Amino acid sequence: MSQYSIMIKSGIRVIRGPDWDPSIHEDGGPGHLGTIIDVSRQDQTCTVQWDNGHLSNCKATSDQQDLRIVYTESTVTKGNSHFAYCNICNISRQNVSGLRFKCVTCKNYDLCMKCYMADEHDKTHSFVRINSRISKVIPILPRVKSKRTKLYGFGPGASVMLTPFATSSHIDDIGRIEEMIEEDGGTAKVAWPSREVTTVKTGKDGLVEIKLIEPHHVGHVYIDHIPAADLSQPPDSCINPGDKVCVDLNFDTLQGLQQDYGGWVDDMEKIMGETGKVVDVPRSTLCEVYFESVSRTYVLYIAALTKMSVPVVGDRVMVLADVGILIRRQRYLWKEAMRNLIGKTGTVDSIDVMGNLSISFSGNRKFDFSPSCVVKDDGDSVVPRDDSDDEGTIKITLEDEPSIYHEPDTEKKEMLAPFGVDEESVDSSDNSDNDEDGISSEEEHVPKVNSKNVYLELSPLTSVYCLHFY
Ligand SMILES: [Zn+2]
Ligand SMILES: [Zn+2]
Repeated sequence: MSQYSIMIKSGIRVIRGPDWDPSIHEDGGPGHLGTIIDVSRQDQTCTVQWDNGHLSNCKATSDQQDLRIVYTESTVTKGNSHFAYCNICNISRQNVSGLRFKCVTCKNYDLCMKCYMADEHDKTHSFVRINSRISKVIPILPRVKSKRTKLYGFGPGASVMLTPFATSSHIDDIGRIEEMIEEDGGTAKVAWPSREVTTVKTGKDGLVEIKLIEPHHVGHVYIDHIPAADLSQPPDSCINPGDKVCVDLNFDTLQGLQQDYGGWVDDMEKIMGETGKVVDVPRSTLCEVYFESVSRTYVLYIAALTKMSVPVVGDRVMVLADVGILIRRQRYLWKEAMRNLIGKTGTVDSIDVMGNLSISFSGNRKFDFSPSCVVKDDGDSVVPRDDSDDEGTIKITLEDEPSIYHEPDTEKKEMLAPFGVDEESVDSSDNSDNDEDGISSEEEHVPKVNSKNVYLELSPLTSVYCLHFY
């Protein structure tokens, strides 16, 4: 079975993992934080700069897990937060970034990493962990049965010095951290003896410019409740219509999740462990899956599913039919010529170190695609309906674009909106409800965000126009 792993890149915060050699103390000890500053997918290693300034070359394979991940990519990268907010610190109903913890005992109850580790909510309740927006859930033990460890690292009040990597004039000074700014890729504000305050990098651009003078306590962590770093598995990828999936959870966990999302049906236990094929992804949280063994389709919580179809070299794959999704997921890989490839099938020639696929199509055309933009084409047709024609999603997206392109008053940045629709603006357009079912899918959001941008851009002009006449 293919098991996807959490995205690993520089800036991610880690502590020593289950396979760390306990005779090595350069990290400072159990629970001492460091930052990944370099990743080698080929060697399956990470270079970590511990907050005490020491460097380690760490293994991140399924056999040797030297590291555990404390703060994930979405802690430091804006816009990749979950479709849920924390029930404790939800002041502004911000979506959870970093690791998300969902109670399977209570209905619709989520905690962020900070609140979960601070022992909020009933500690006897079972939770699942969701690493990222596109990860499947990982069941974890109730906290009351688990080991809690102190965390040490950078935080407000900590005494620090500059490392040799720093580009500031305060070499040999001892400063105090005033504020940590995680969203920026990892920076901190440090006050120096001269009372000057400077911003230093604590992970941004793969650089950590400060080190601790002495250990600084910053909180706690349930050590077995956070993921180990593993570069041997392909990174998490979105589940698309046509993908093969299976439910790899225990009965109670599946029932708890389904009661929140998608609904529980009594005979659902028949599909546990069975492989099904995704018919449709009507919302970002829900998936329609057809199971041949019971000849019926179930609506399932997308994070309860394990994706089985991972393309390898030589596989036939089909490009997704929705150009809006393609543009957003391809990001820097997007090329205009790819518009002609939607729904087309090609062969995987090679897979690069980031997991992107080099695919050759008929007519000697070769393009790079993110694995989230293609579906493995295994040639079978167990799904009793054709899902490519019944949505009209392509039509909606194409219809939406001319109104933006031909709008003369729209500024250049607005014209770029279809390409620049980032997940941040998608999130902010509707985060008023923690019930994930109430949040429409990313697919539905793309045109919506565009029209909102255009409206906001035009409204001042409209009022100026009106003033002339009245
Ligand atoms: Zn919280
Ligand atoms: Zn609960």
